[in-house]
Amino acid sequence: MSNSDCLFCRIAAGEIPSSPVLNTDRILAFRDIAPQAPVHIVVIPKAHFADVAELGAQDPALAGELIAAISTIAAAERLADGFRVVFNTGSDAGQTVGHVHAHILAGRSLSWPPG
Ligand code: AMP
Ligand code: ZN
Repeated sequence: MSNSDCLFCRIAAGEIPSSPVLNTDRILAFRDIAPQAPVHIVVIPKAHFADVAELGAQDPALAGELIAAISTIAAAERLADGFRVVFNTGSDAGQTVGHVHAHILAGRSLSWPPG
């Protein structure tokens, strides 16, 4: 499934440029355009799912591939001091792009609770 109106579907299709970090058959990771930390990477399945709840319910194997990609990226980016993974989901969480994505944040001390 792909949605020509979806920003991240268009990035996955190569129609909008990105700074890729990892690119496999089913997963793409790229640098966030407005980084909130020294390392800020967005990880998406190339297929369209609205959010992590929909992805987990409809394709748990692909959700697992997304987590495996996060492991690969954490090693490649040498995030041994720690990192945070965030799936903003829905309006209360401030999700602005309706295509499931994990944020990887690292490179500084990250406050908790996030506020
Ligand atoms: P969220 O608010 O969780 O939906 O996150 C969407 C993220 O996508 C934000 O952190 C944006 O900065 C990021 N973003 C939006 N457009 C682009 C783009 N063209 N390339 C890279 N990141 C983007
Ligand atoms: Zn999409």
